[in-house]
Amino acid sequence: MSAETETFSFQAEISQLMSLIINTFYSNKEIFLRELISNASDALDKVRYQSLTDPSVLDAEKDLFIRITPDKENNILSIRDTGIGMTKADLVNNLGTIAKSGTKAFMEALSSGADISMIGQFGVGFYSAYLVADKVQVITKHNDDEQYIWESAAGGSFTITRDEVNPPIGRGTEMRLFMKEDQLEYLDEKKIKDIVKKHSEFISYPIQLVVEKEVEKEVSDDEEEIVAEEGAKIEEVTDEDDKKDEKKKKTIKETVTENEELNKTKPLWTRNPEDVKPEEYSEFYKALSNDWEDHLAVKHFSVEGQLEFRAILYVPKRAPFDMFETKKKRNNIKLYVRRVFIMDDCDELMPEWLSFVKGVVDSEDLPLNISREMLQQNKILKVIRKNLVKKCLEMFQEISEDKENFDKFYEAFSKNIKLGIHEDTQNRGKLADLLRYYSTKSGDEMTSFKDYVTRMPEKQKNIYYITGESRAAVENSPFLEGFKKKGIEVLLMTDPIDEYATTQLKEYEDKKLVCITKDGLELEEDEEEKKAREAEQKEYEGLCKAVKDILGDKVEKVVLSSMLTDSPCVLTTGQFGWSANMERIMKAQALRDSSMSSYMASKKTLELNPDHPIIKALKAKVSADANDRTAKDLVTLLYETSLLTSGFTLDDPSSFATRINRMVSLGLSIDEDELPTADEPTTEAAADDNAEVSQMEEVD
Ligand code: ADP
Ligand code: MG
Repeated sequence: MSAETETFSFQAEISQLMSLIINTFYSNKEIFLRELISNASDALDKVRYQSLTDPSVLDAEKDLFIRITPDKENNILSIRDTGIGMTKADLVNNLGTIAKSGTKAFMEALSSGADISMIGQFGVGFYSAYLVADKVQVITKHNDDEQYIWESAAGGSFTITRDEVNPPIGRGTEMRLFMKEDQLEYLDEKKIKDIVKKHSEFISYPIQLVVEKEVEKEVSDDEEEIVAEEGAKIEEVTDEDDKKDEKKKKTIKETVTENEELNKTKPLWTRNPEDVKPEEYSEFYKALSNDWEDHLAVKHFSVEGQLEFRAILYVPKRAPFDMFETKKKRNNIKLYVRRVFIMDDCDELMPEWLSFVKGVVDSEDLPLNISREMLQQNKILKVIRKNLVKKCLEMFQEISEDKENFDKFYEAFSKNIKLGIHEDTQNRGKLADLLRYYSTKSGDEMTSFKDYVTRMPEKQKNIYYITGESRAAVENSPFLEGFKKKGIEVLLMTDPIDEYATTQLKEYEDKKLVCITKDGLELEEDEEEKKAREAEQKEYEGLCKAVKDILGDKVEKVVLSSMLTDSPCVLTTGQFGWSANMERIMKAQALRDSSMSSYMASKKTLELNPDHPIIKALKAKVSADANDRTAKDLVTLLYETSLLTSGFTLDDPSSFATRINRMVSLGLSIDEDELPTADEPTTEAAADDNAEVSQMEEVD
C-alpha cells in the first residue's frame, strides 16, 4: 500500500511572498544557496547540541556534514544535511502554515526598496529556493518520526507524503531543487564553489560538493571488453617505454564521483587578529548575522588568566526590524566551547540592552555538556559576560571617535544605550558619555553632556533638561522662557526612554540633572534677585491663595515663578512624581494599574508670572473683590491652558471648549440669547458655569 499524500494550503502571506519571489525580476539569485546552507547548519547545530547530553541522538548518522550534489542529467540540485531533521508536524508548521512576523515585514521592506538578498534577516530564507527552482522537495528524517517528503511547486499549496520511494537518509534533511530552465548554471561545479566560498566560508560544518572526476585506470586485455561495454574510453598507450614492453597495457578513463570539501578555513576567532584581513571580518560577520551589509565596528580579542576565552564582537550598521519585539528569542552571540558550537541563544551571555551586538565566544573553561539550567548559575559565564560588556563599551568609545560612524551608531542604537543606563548601574557613567541631545544652544548638531558642561557659566550648578513629545513641542515650551532670557542651556529630550534613563542617571560629573518642568528649581540667582523675588512673593500671596481656593484639588499649590517671560503661568510637577511627559507616556502605555498612577501621577504646582499683564489684572480683580465670579472662570481657563502648554492632556476637553467658546462669543459681542442651548451640558456644574457667563468680562 502506498503512503497517503496530504495537501495543505500555504498561509496567505507566505503564498504572497512566494509569488513575489517567483515573479520579481531579480538577478542576484545565488543567495538561495547561502540560505539553504545556513538552514542546514542551524539543523546541525541543533542535533549537535542535543548530542552533548544524549549521544544516542547521533546513532542513525554519526557524521555531521552538508553535501551538495548537482545532478545535471535531471536538473536537480540537492543540498543534504545530517542535522536534526523535521517531524511531520515540523514540516507543516515550519514550511508553510504558520507565518512569522518577518513574512509581512519582508514584503513591506521589499516594496520600500529592500533587496531580496535581505531575506535571511527576516526569517523566511527557505522560500528563496523558489528564486531558482520551480519545484522543491524536502526529504527529511527526524529521530522521532518517519521519513517524509514535503513538496511544492508554489501555487498556494504543498503536500506531505510518508517517504516510501527514496532510500532512507538516516537523519537530517535533503532539499531537492528542480531547477528552472534558465537557472541551470547553478548545477555547475565552478559556480557552486564560487558561491560557497563567497557566502558560506565560515560555516562550521564541512560543506562537501559531489564532483565528477575522470581518473585513469590500467586494465589488462581481458578486462577491456567488459569496460568497453560500460562505455568508458579506451586509449592506446603510446609511451616509448610501453612500446618496448612485450605485454600490452591499456589505460581507460573512468568517471568517478568524489566529495570535495569546500570550506577548510580555520575558525576566524582562533586566528591572530593581526593576520585577519578586513574582508575576512566582514565575510564572517555576514555569515554570522545574515546581514547583507558590512558591520560598523568589530572587536576581536582573547582573555587569558584565570579564565580563558576568545571572542569576536560586531556592531551592525542598523537596528534589526524587530529589535524590541520581546517575545522573539535572540540569537546574537554564538557560544562555543573549545571550538564546539553549544548554542546561539544564551541569555546569560549578554544583557538585554546589548542585544544588537553580534558575535562569537569560544570558552576554554566551560564543560562541553553544559545545560541551559547550569548556564544560569554559572560563574564562568558571569565573568565572560562582564568582559563582553566591558569590550562593547570600549568598542562604542572607539566608534565615538569618528563622528560619521557615531552618528549612524547613535541613530540605530541610542535606545539601547539609554536602556543600558537604566539597567547597568556599574557602567552608567561610561554610557552617559555616549548620550547626545539637541539643546537650546546646539543648533543642528547634537551635544554631549561633556560639551554641555564645558559651556556652563561658572555660577550654574546643574545640568538642565526638558522632556516632551517632540523637538518642536519642547523648543516652544513656556518652561524655557526664563532659561532663554538668562542664557542658560537646556537639553531637549524627546525619546520616551529618556525619562527612565535620566531618572536613573541623576547626575553627570557631580552635576545634578534637573528637569525644568518639575517644581523646586534651584535658581541660579544672586542676592539682589533673590530679595526681589521674595518681596514679590509676599505681594502676590493673596492672589496665590485665591487661585488655590478656586482650583481646589486640581493643584497642590500656587506660587510665583521667576522663570517665565511671555506666558502667564505654567504647571510644574513634584520632584519625585512623574513629569507631564511621563504621565503622557504612562497613559499611552496603560501599563500601570490605576492605583499606581494615582500614586505616581503628577502633583501639580501652578506657577504664576508676576510680570504678565493677565496676572497683574487678575491680582487687581481679586484684591478688589475676593469673591469675583468672573475670576473663577478665568482662573479655570488659565489652568486648563497651562495643562496644554505644560505637556499634560485635558481630562475634560469639552468643558474647556465650552469655556473657550464663551470667550469667543464675548469677543464677537454675540448676545448670550443667540447661543444654541441644545448641546449645553446639563450637569449641575455646567449649569453653574452658565450662570457666570453674563458676568464675564474681556481681559486685555
Ligand atoms: P529561519 O532559518 O530564519 O528560521 P527559514 O525560512 O530559513 O527561516 O526556515 C524556516 C524553518 O524551517 C527553520 O526555522 C527550520 O525550523 C525549518 N528548516 C528549514 N531548513 C531546515 C533543515 N535543513 N533542517 C531542519 N529544519 C529546517
Ligand atoms: Mg534560514
